Amino acid sequence: MRRVRISVPAPASLRLELVGVPAGSSLTLDLRLEAVMEGVLVSGTVTAALAGECGRCLGEVADTVQAELQELCVYCDAGHPDTERDDKEVSRLDGDLLDLEPALRDAVVLALPLTPLCRPDCPGLCVECGQPWAELPVDHTHERPDPRWAALSRLATGPAPADPDPAHRTDPEP
Ligand SMILES: [Zn+2]
Ligand SMILES: [Zn+2]
Repeated sequence: MRRVRISVPAPASLRLELVGVPAGSSLTLDLRLEAVMEGVLVSGTVTAALAGECGRCLGEVADTVQAELQELCVYCDAGHPDTERDDKEVSRLDGDLLDLEPALRDAVVLALPLTPLCRPDCPGLCVECGQPWAELPVDHTHERPDPRWAALSRLATGPAPADPDPAHRTDPEP
């Protein structure tokens, strides 16, 4: 078994709608290579930079992502009987990463957050004005009830119910 730690430029395919690994940024592969009957079993972790948009406030997300990778590399060994020589191992793997790319893409894309957040407790946006809460003063508020909106919400919920207080209904006759 060998351990190999190398960095390769990220392909452009490692992304979801809101977040992804910037193309050309450095992917760090920390891999174990095991010769098995069928070829070389490659397993280990991929660490990559993450950039995107916060799913709550649309702010910038800068993070890292780590994914587990395991792939049987059937042709890795073809024409290389010298699997035990360290000096050739790394350069050979470098070329064979082409074969690993689909597995690597699957692993990284699966590890991407569906709702990336700029920080775990991102407060999101004010629903009234759309400004990020992080940039608003703590006492930020919108005057409620604005009489015009109050009138609208009365329309939406139907006429106001009759005054239930009996004291108001039976006005004493003079
Ligand atoms: Zn955010
Ligand atoms: Zn607001």
